Amino acid sequence: MVVDAAVAVAELRATFASGKTKSYEWRVSQFKAILKLTNEHEKDIIEALRSDLNKPEYEALLYEICGVKKSAKLALKELRRWMTPEKAKTSLITFPSSAELVSEPLGVILVISTWNYPFLLSFEAIIGAIAAGNTVVLKPSEIAPATSSLLSKLIGEYMDSSALKVVEGAVPETTALLEQKWDKIIYTGSEKVGRIVAAAAAKHLTPVILELGGKCPVIVDTKINLEVAARRLISGKWGCNSGQTCVSPDYILTTKEFAPKLVDALVWELEKFYGKEPLKSPDLSRIVNSSHFNRLTKLMDNEKVSGKIVHGGQRDKTTLKIAPTILLDVPEDSLIMNEEIFGPLFPIITVDKIEDSFNVINAREKPLAAYLFTNDKTLQEEFVESVSAGGLSINETTLHSATLTLPFGGVGESGMGSYHGKYSFDAFSHKKPVLRRSFVGEVAARYPPYTPKKQRF
Ligand code: NAD
Repeated sequence: MVVDAAVAVAELRATFASGKTKSYEWRVSQFKAILKLTNEHEKDIIEALRSDLNKPEYEALLYEICGVKKSAKLALKELRRWMTPEKAKTSLITFPSSAELVSEPLGVILVISTWNYPFLLSFEAIIGAIAAGNTVVLKPSEIAPATSSLLSKLIGEYMDSSALKVVEGAVPETTALLEQKWDKIIYTGSEKVGRIVAAAAAKHLTPVILELGGKCPVIVDTKINLEVAARRLISGKWGCNSGQTCVSPDYILTTKEFAPKLVDALVWELEKFYGKEPLKSPDLSRIVNSSHFNRLTKLMDNEKVSGKIVHGGQRDKTTLKIAPTILLDVPEDSLIMNEEIFGPLFPIITVDKIEDSFNVINAREKPLAAYLFTNDKTLQEEFVESVSAGGLSINETTLHSATLTLPFGGVGESGMGSYHGKYSFDAFSHKKPVLRRSFVGEVAARYPPYTPKKQRF
């Protein structure tokens, strides 16, 4: 494990300067190493995720392990095409000529990762950085210590250690890393730390991708298949790490009349999924640590909302589990509506008309994701037209972020820049424009002396 940030960066700069990471073969060898380490250590990865989050094995496999494999395989399949220079049109001014965009790597990339999908989100960024031909330092999250140490071990054993380093640690180590000059930083986490990262990067004019969070709204109209909608809401809220997911729906907007029906449908499906005693369900992740557990129980117990719990509310301090909890008619000025919940609490805000939901959303900071459930095509169009968010899903939750043909990232306070699939390759490349001419096509008018005759356009 490398602990000295300056030494790590110097070594990676030397590797980058050697040109090794630019070759197609080197990039491919690293994708294959990622697939190999994932295949050979599936059990260890599941175990680390269980230790850090009590993540159910199925969620570990589906969202983290399969997610990494899917991205590595896509990069393997598409890399040649991604690396091929893109032709560009030329203009009369340069006739005859040709033009292209050449993708060149930036150099040394810093990946500051987070704890909720600690395996997936670390490798998702690494795959993009390698695809583009860069060297990388990964700083995994100290809040998921088992996965952090496994990542350090596996990357050290399987990948090219002259081009990829893992620096484990917390705030002091991250601060030391941020003092170095990087060619790009990708940070996933809170908006508060995002500002620290952006300020540190600005000192070196380093570009940043900030993958932050926010309160992701979901509008539920009456013109829906209620059973399917309830299941998809549950999957996005509780089935993804007990709501500890940046694109989890944070709160529901629906009409006053429809809210009780929606609650009934959610409760019905919740009991089918997690039983009558959800705290005992093996399929529900725990809260990551006691400080987040205490933060969430405070949100639930806050006097403005404590009477509003219509389902759930149970918690167990020893296992750090909180039952799926629904709160109805939550005041908009309550604590729970003024910070990202990032946990299994689902408040419902009621509106007179479903269209009023757009004003509620637009009065707040732009979220990372927004969702709408309706079969009404006009409402769908209005939603796409009027709601600004990092990404949208209609009649679905979270899955746009798992669609590798779509860029993933925030807007406004939910972040800047985007990645995934080809967008990752682009995010970690400089698109170098190249114009080519021969020695024909001379136009005397461009050269001095600028005689009156030449100035007649
Ligand atoms: P965080 O921002 O506290 O920590 C993330 C990383 O920053 C860690 O590696 C940590 O060591 C480092 N860090 C923390 N404090 C620091 C400081 N003062 N100086 C330098 N580095 C510091 O992460 P969190 O708040 O626990 O993460 C939750 C947030 O992340 C939520 O807002 C969530 O929505 C967001 N998130 C976003 C995505 C995405 O892809 N957009 C994914 C997951 C989580």
